[in-house]
Amino acid sequence: MTVASRFYDLRQAYPALGSGVQEDELHAIAAAEGIVIERVRRLPSAGATLNAAGTAVILLRADLEPDQARSTLAHELAHVWLGHGAEPVAERSRISRKRREQELEADSLAHLILNAKLRR
Ligand SMILES: [Zn+2]
Repeated sequence: MTVASRFYDLRQAYPALGSGVQEDELHAIAAAEGIVIERVRRLPSAGATLNAAGTAVILLRADLEPDQARSTLAHELAHVWLGHGAEPVAERSRISRKRREQELEADSLAHLILNAKLRR
């Protein structure tokens, strides 16, 4: 599964993705997907993803500016949609090559979700 094919599948289900999707729309899509989002006061990174008994739970730090909350949420949703394992809370320190690849994939899918300019 490539990032691009995952994006096209998601966009079939949620046409707002890649077309200027706003944070509240991302929240609605996450809810439709059974993904739980919690804003938390204390977190060493902007966001993190946990797996709680089979339910993906995305943590977003409560003090993020709106643009950062939107991009962090897209990045964390991308991890879930790419089937990556739970995000370590200190996500960018001491990480393996595989983890770095997953971060690049998540950034790539998040970029498509937020900014894609699709041509037909
Ligand atoms: Zn990440």
